[in-house]
Amino acid sequence: MKELLVSLAHKNRYNRFLKNKIELSCKCGCLDTLTYYDFLSGGEFEIGQPASIISPFISESIYDETITVTPILLTRKCPDCGEEITAVFPLSVENLVPILQVQPPDPQMYG
Ligand SMILES: [Zn+2]
Repeated sequence: MKELLVSLAHKNRYNRFLKNKIELSCKCGCLDTLTYYDFLSGGEFEIGQPASIISPFISESIYDETITVTPILLTRKCPDCGEEITAVFPLSVENLVPILQVQPPDPQMYG
């Protein structure tokens, strides 16, 4: 699964979605930002334990639908104090993969 995410990130390197940024803030006050692309393409992340939650998208006809969410976690060493900083990717594996599997528009279109 991890290899899939890394390769999807590489395929989507022109995808504007991957230019969103994540902030990593350390206890010492050091703040680091990296893009979704940096987060995924480096392969430094871990796939967390899948958890079942009640779907937030329950329609009137469906009750108690549970969905599985698998978190993506990134641990980095703080460049200042050496403490480990853990960040959770804003999307679960289940939400992220379909976004990356959509064929991105040709980057030439944007000149
Ligand atoms: Zn620090």
